[in-house]
Amino acid sequence: MKTPILVIFVDALPYDRAVNIVEKLAAPTYLKSVPGAGYSINVKAEMFAGLKPDDVGYFCEWNYDVESSVAWPVKALMSILDWVGGISFFLDRVFHKLTTKVLGENVYAIPFRVMPFLKNSGLTAYERDFQHPTFLSEGAFDRVLYSEEGVNDKKVFEKALGKLQKEKCSRLFVSTAELDGVMHNHGMFCEEYENQIALIEDHAVRLINEFLDLHGPEAHYFLFSDHGMAPVLQSVDFDIRDICGAPGNDSYLYCVDATFYRVWLNDKTLEAKINAAFSDLKDGHILTVAERKHFGLVDLKHGDVIFMLDESKQFAPNFFGRGICQAMHGYEPQLESQLGSFVSNLGHLHGEKIEAVDIYKTIRAVL
Ligand SMILES: [Zn+2]
Repeated sequence: MKTPILVIFVDALPYDRAVNIVEKLAAPTYLKSVPGAGYSINVKAEMFAGLKPDDVGYFCEWNYDVESSVAWPVKALMSILDWVGGISFFLDRVFHKLTTKVLGENVYAIPFRVMPFLKNSGLTAYERDFQHPTFLSEGAFDRVLYSEEGVNDKKVFEKALGKLQKEKCSRLFVSTAELDGVMHNHGMFCEEYENQIALIEDHAVRLINEFLDLHGPEAHYFLFSDHGMAPVLQSVDFDIRDICGAPGNDSYLYCVDATFYRVWLNDKTLEAKINAAFSDLKDGHILTVAERKHFGLVDLKHGDVIFMLDESKQFAPNFFGRGICQAMHGYEPQLESQLGSFVSNLGHLHGEKIEAVDIYKTIRAVL
């Protein structure tokens, strides 16, 4: 008989906030989960499939589409929309909402001039149609996913509990995501945050205990998160167009995430200018060759230049919005604030930390 396994993924649960779950379960293993570089889309590929950005083929959600060829009327229209949006924030929001509706894809706040050159790459690794093997597909897990149930942790946990009681699943996976949004929107020093943590503690402990009662001492459970969070204290406004002019296939393309600024150089003569501008910025640094190797970001398709902000700073505006969040992740993964949690009844795991790709290997090994 295959080993019964329950896996609960709690997006953004910081390491120190899993302490009550650990105590209530008397869990023998409580480690700091070290995220990979980037955001959830990449960290999940590492945790569920053991794939770093170079292996999975993307870094962050939006990337330069080198195949893109944009006709001049589209370029002209996009430039006009950008120009009008620059005059009126209201019109800019209206144009972005209309474009989202027409394309059937959220274009957030991506500047119109850049939009036709970017593509949304990547799928969350625990989704059913993810293109690579994961421990979920290899272990034939039943899944209760927030993407199907809604971003409502209570609802997701109740659905999982009901499924377990009814179907007696021996391999069950549950993904939640509400906490991440609560922290981005409300921060980490407020009632909303504390209430959400309490809700997760109650529901996760109950689900794990039911699973163990049902399947006995041979059953394993794993509860882990992809990252922690740091309060955002400073916005950083940096517009590369002020230095390099209009982006395009003949010059350069760029993408501004909350904490990363990526630039693709089609005109290599811009390199020195761009490097100088980023070193003047002083709020972060361009990833070195050694860092890119460590993070699995060697492939230049992720960006010729990848600039990462220091802790507690956020680009604003960025391609996803105009203002800053209350709290953010996507900084240097080894920072204490960025460490997620890993809790299990598997007793043989030692050390203080577990890397994202090692979570995949650990669960894969007990399938
Ligand atoms: Zn997030």
